[in-house]
Amino acid sequence: MASTKKPVTPDYKINFPVKVAKSRIAGMGAYAVTNMPARRKIGDLGGLIITMKEAMQIVKQSKGVVNMVEFGNGYALNAGVNANDLRFINHSCNPNTYMRVTQNRVEFYTLRTIKKGEELSTNYGETHHDGKLPCGCGAKNCKGFI
Ligand SMILES: [Zn+2]
Repeated sequence: MASTKKPVTPDYKINFPVKVAKSRIAGMGAYAVTNMPARRKIGDLGGLIITMKEAMQIVKQSKGVVNMVEFGNGYALNAGVNANDLRFINHSCNPNTYMRVTQNRVEFYTLRTIKKGEELSTNYGETHHDGKLPCGCGAKNCKGFI
């Protein structure tokens, strides 16, 4: 995979603006500013494309929250740099958005109609927490851990 050419970081855009405020799940959260129809692209997670080697070093050095998404092609998105408000979307076991990872983008889509003022959430799936981080999403089907 190391032979893959490093993708150029594209211009990441948000189609539906969000408001950052205290989360009902954890820390800060992203809230819908307008009603959003189902199955629409909310936007791309902001960040900088780096190699997996660089990503590992950043994860190792940081003791706090790391916003890193692996593309699976030898590169990752460091959402702590060139960031946008979509990085505040928290994990939920019963999410209202879907996170789609492409070769150079982390896109968020609405799973259903989202009303103005609703907190956005997504299922992180397999994360670097290895299922050891307690989940506070409050959903009826909560798995308990991320
Ligand atoms: Zn949960």
